[in-house]
Amino acid sequence: MTNIILLGPPGAGKGTQARKLVEERGMVQLSTGDMLREARTSGTAMGRKVAAVMDGGGLVTDEIVIGLIEEKMKGSRGAGFIFDGFPRTLAQADALGAMLKRSGQRLDAVIEMRVDDEALVRRISGRFTCGNCGEVYHDQTRPTKKPGTCDVCGSTDMQRRADDNAESLKVRLMEYYKKTSPLIGYYYALGDLFTIDGLAEIGDVAKSLAGIVDQQAVS
Ligand code: AMP
Repeated sequence: MTNIILLGPPGAGKGTQARKLVEERGMVQLSTGDMLREARTSGTAMGRKVAAVMDGGGLVTDEIVIGLIEEKMKGSRGAGFIFDGFPRTLAQADALGAMLKRSGQRLDAVIEMRVDDEALVRRISGRFTCGNCGEVYHDQTRPTKKPGTCDVCGSTDMQRRADDNAESLKVRLMEYYKKTSPLIGYYYALGDLFTIDGLAEIGDVAKSLAGIVDQQAVS
């Protein structure tokens, strides 16, 4: 079991890399963004509450995301967890530490994916995903081979996130710098932090990540 956190601003490539680790190593991706997107389509009171916050680019309350993560951790088994987009605040980081401890597990590595802001804006503004299998594409850098059709599963259900626009991105970046980036210092102090270049080719980023996961698995 190797448990890792992928830490980085929106558009750093956390989701793309988490999906690769799931496919190649049977790890379990725990993305609070995906859980919240699922919750908002459920029509529950909680779903309605989070929808407006997410579309504006703000952070959902710690209480809600910690509850979601706790529930998913209990119900999932695999070769370790990949925390993707969680924790995003110091309170969430403390809660995760306590949850892992309670279940007799440890955090093996926190991997900061570093990308400059200009690149983030470019990445996010062209991003779209397959609504069926979740494959991630980009208008300029990674278009589908056949327009509007997923290369992986053939679905034509292509989706753009409501919060992938210039206005929300500004808020999301500010939230990242104000509330999430302090986690870099927090995990550095705990001795868990690794930093990789998130602007490298997708395959090279995957290799760097795999190297850290392998190294932590034996240590
Ligand atoms: P993501 O898919 O990780 O970019 O998350 C999309 C949106 O969901 C964020 O902009 C937040 O509104 C919300 N969200 C996801 N994860 C968290 C979290 N750990 N804490 C608070 N809000 C979150």
